[in-house]
Amino acid sequence: MSVPPQTVPSPTPYAIEVADVVKTYPGGVRALDGLSFAVQPGQVFGLLGPNGAGKSTTMKILTTLARPDSGSVRVAGHDALRRPDLVRRAIGVVAQRSGADPMTSGRENLVLQGRLYGLRGAELSSRVEELLDRFDLGHAARREVRTYSGGMQRRLDVALGMVHMPRVLFLDEPTTGLDPESRTAMWDEIERMVTDNALTILLTTHHLEEVDRLAHRLAIVDHGRIVVAGTPEELKGELRGDALRIELSSAPDARGERLAREVLATLPGLREVTVEGRRLGARADAGAAAVPMALAALDQAGLPVAAVTVARPSMDDVYLRHVGRRSPVTVEPIGAPV
Ligand code: ADP
Repeated sequence: MSVPPQTVPSPTPYAIEVADVVKTYPGGVRALDGLSFAVQPGQVFGLLGPNGAGKSTTMKILTTLARPDSGSVRVAGHDALRRPDLVRRAIGVVAQRSGADPMTSGRENLVLQGRLYGLRGAELSSRVEELLDRFDLGHAARREVRTYSGGMQRRLDVALGMVHMPRVLFLDEPTTGLDPESRTAMWDEIERMVTDNALTILLTTHHLEEVDRLAHRLAIVDHGRIVVAGTPEELKGELRGDALRIELSSAPDARGERLAREVLATLPGLREVTVEGRRLGARADAGAAAVPMALAALDQAGLPVAAVTVARPSMDDVYLRHVGRRSPVTVEPIGAPV
């Protein structure tokens, strides 16, 4: 008997492969407009983009909750349109909204989830204990989830997504709303999961630092298409030079703004000058050399400076360049006093 074509393992080496996907919602919104990208197994792939870019729609299609109008989607070696059942068994999903039952204990939540995936008896118990231990929830295993801190709830969400040992994990904004300490702990855990379990992770986030830290590769989506893709280093490397940020002592008037722009634009080695009220920005071939020059020139022009920072190009700069505005969760660097 010949094997039906849809059960033949993926002919590609990718854990996720999206090609020319188009999705239109009723009302004519073209949420995805020819989206294509691929993710290597064992890697974290970050999906970034402004609100309305198409990230959630992409997640829904990859996790078999929605169907595209056209294009092809393969996840964990299976065709997501023909065999969504096989895809569902091979993936874990951690949605933005917790799937845990708040009135039940952490352990019970894990047990129920395990049963849903067909785990029973000793195998189920040992898997649940392993996850409680790994996600540092053992001490709270018997408590109702509604008593958990935000960080504990999020760790339980990830543990729930990992019960059946998926090969591909979808993480939708895993650290939104967490305090910095819980966020760092979650990042450590995500890194451990990738290393220990050879897991492939698709991560959507607004936190550019998160994607910089975790993602092997990333793509920025806008208007339902990939605008740019690469490793964080590649994308930052495309931006030549250091980012210079200067804060004037007081907000200049229109004439002062023009003057500030002229002063910086005429200095050697400075380009891409921006002026937003008292905040000036420029890109410098050599940041350290540019600082004293810029300070002296602005001072001479009657525009004293309160603070200045020099930074290597960041993911924030990459995002700004490709999307045209900053990410909603950008944290401004604190200006060092001069
Ligand atoms: P993101 O997750 O990047 O914010 P979405 O995938 O949610 O983007 O949305 C992409 C586009 O599709 C947006 O213009 C959004 O308004 C639209 N959209 C999303 N879901 C629906 C829906 N159920 N019905 C109609 N339009 C939708």
